[in-house]
Amino acid sequence: MSSKAFNSFQIAQAQFDKVAEYLGLDAATRELLRYPLREYHFAIPVRMDDGSMKIFRGFRVQHNDARGPGKGGIRFHPQETIDTVKALSMWMTWKCAVVDIPLGGAKGGVICDPHNLSQREQEQLCRGWIRQVVRNVGPVADVPAPDVMTNSQHMLWMLDEFERIMGGRFPGFITGKPVGMGGSLGRTEATGYGVVFTLREAMKELGIKAENTEASVQGLGNVSRYAIELYQQLGGKVIAVSCWDQTDQCSYTYRKMKGIDLQQLLSITDRFGGINKAKAQELGYEVLPGDAWMEQEVDILIPAAIENQLTGDNIGKISQRVKIIAEGANGPTTPEADVKIRERGILLIPDFLANAGGVTCSYFEQVQSNMNYFWSKEEVLGKLDMKMTAAYYAVSELARREKLYMRDAAYAIAIGRVAQACHDRGWV
Ligand code: GLU
Repeated sequence: MSSKAFNSFQIAQAQFDKVAEYLGLDAATRELLRYPLREYHFAIPVRMDDGSMKIFRGFRVQHNDARGPGKGGIRFHPQETIDTVKALSMWMTWKCAVVDIPLGGAKGGVICDPHNLSQREQEQLCRGWIRQVVRNVGPVADVPAPDVMTNSQHMLWMLDEFERIMGGRFPGFITGKPVGMGGSLGRTEATGYGVVFTLREAMKELGIKAENTEASVQGLGNVSRYAIELYQQLGGKVIAVSCWDQTDQCSYTYRKMKGIDLQQLLSITDRFGGINKAKAQELGYEVLPGDAWMEQEVDILIPAAIENQLTGDNIGKISQRVKIIAEGANGPTTPEADVKIRERGILLIPDFLANAGGVTCSYFEQVQSNMNYFWSKEEVLGKLDMKMTAAYYAVSELARREKLYMRDAAYAIAIGRVAQACHDRGWV
């Protein structure tokens, strides 16, 4: 993965400024929306298994809640920074607005590497995170969810701590809970499937059939696994997938020209998400450098790992055959790369549209939790498909009508809605 330093918050602000200009927003609205409404920085003391005390740094950023309570995941990442969390909270605001769900944008993080923490230490970290922000979050204020390196178990510990302190049951406080403990069927699949719902519509618009396409994917986490699963079900062929190797501290691309077998790859993947290289080679995979995923001769690229992966420096390496880029990750493309993608006429499905399936299903989970009545998986995924498809066409129609880049069209819709809500409330 690229090592060059990019400031995601500056990128998010630059993207915002461009569209604010296009929309002709007044100065006060711009000033309000360029920054988060609130930021919390805190220390989380954890008693480690060896008896020592360790202090972790945690964050929660609430970018905007004009359209509803803040919503967004909590990341556990060794390189977490407040600027990344600020950018991600802003992207959450636009994400909820573009799919038109009544929620705002927030994001949280902890600087830590969960690979080096025992289950007990992770539990203490989750409970400690809640203790520090308990007064500033809640079902009607700000609703967290899983994100990079956090999962349903972390969410349940956080919910339990929140409920202990508040005294009561508040299942609508957090989403991404385990199924049977207030979680929604389909939540695990939702982000990856959502990427492919939008990709399916993009292929239709370009008049190409999934079974005649090949794709290359970056990432082997929750988003990419389900994106690969559904894309393959539609008949598409994934020839390469790149993922992080914890032991070597770098990523590799695993390529099989006949098409990867997802279940087989997962069966040789360790609990940290790293693939066993020797076994992969035995099974006929070529092991290539981490960046090779983007250089493959394919029709579709799905960056579904982390931010700032397609940059001005490497975008020239992508094949002339690429027709669609579906951004499963948040912020995988820098503005310099955007310019090139646009010039090449590639159909880009921007991150906060493509990966909005996760938060949309979180919204369904919240609704079900609050009703204490749960839907079938078919019902959840059917509703998800409808929301994602409608959002995709709203963006693509605006892009066509106004000759806008897809990212700018998605921003125009989202920022317009949020600005209107701020205005209607009398904030600006
Ligand atoms: N972390 C996911 C995202 O970036 C989901 C957030 C949520 O469900 O609230 O969209």
